[in-house]
Amino acid sequence: MATASIDQDSIRDEFLTGLRNAHAMEQQALSLMDRQIDRLANYTDMEARLRTHRGETERQVERLEHILESLGESHSALKDIGMSLTGNLAAMGHSFASDEILKNSFANLAFENFEKAAYKALIIMAQEAGLPWAVPILEESLREEEAMIVFLDEMLPMVVHKYLSLRAAGEQASH
Ligand code: MG
Ligand code: FE
Repeated sequence: MATASIDQDSIRDEFLTGLRNAHAMEQQALSLMDRQIDRLANYTDMEARLRTHRGETERQVERLEHILESLGESHSALKDIGMSLTGNLAAMGHSFASDEILKNSFANLAFENFEKAAYKALIIMAQEAGLPWAVPILEESLREEEAMIVFLDEMLPMVVHKYLSLRAAGEQASH
């Protein structure tokens, strides 16, 4: 049993690192959405769905904090990681592009797929670390990311059609 527990300790460390990274990832998700939500004038379905997913993302952050705190991670340490990485994503802003809505649609789909992969990996790590209680918590967030991917994927053709018709009419089409 002694060797097994040493293995599980190192897997648990990997899981903790993964949780901290996911916490930072969700801070990036929030800033990515915040830079879009208030600017979306012509794409109201997208705006509404982003607002909903922003709320889901806040709960995803709480879930990660709950798991981390259950494993003895302090709350102040988390805040620092989140704040330090949030600024990096600002570079991904497409706010001044004439096809802003398209670039953001591509970036959102890429980001949600990244999140999906991160939660799938965390679920495996939780199982391997002997922490099965964390699995259903992470699965809830995984389902939300998967639903967001389906929405964005199905929405893309409508966004492109609307963008093209607004452009053709000489109207504001970028956001
Ligand atoms: Mg998320
Ligand atoms: Fe997400």
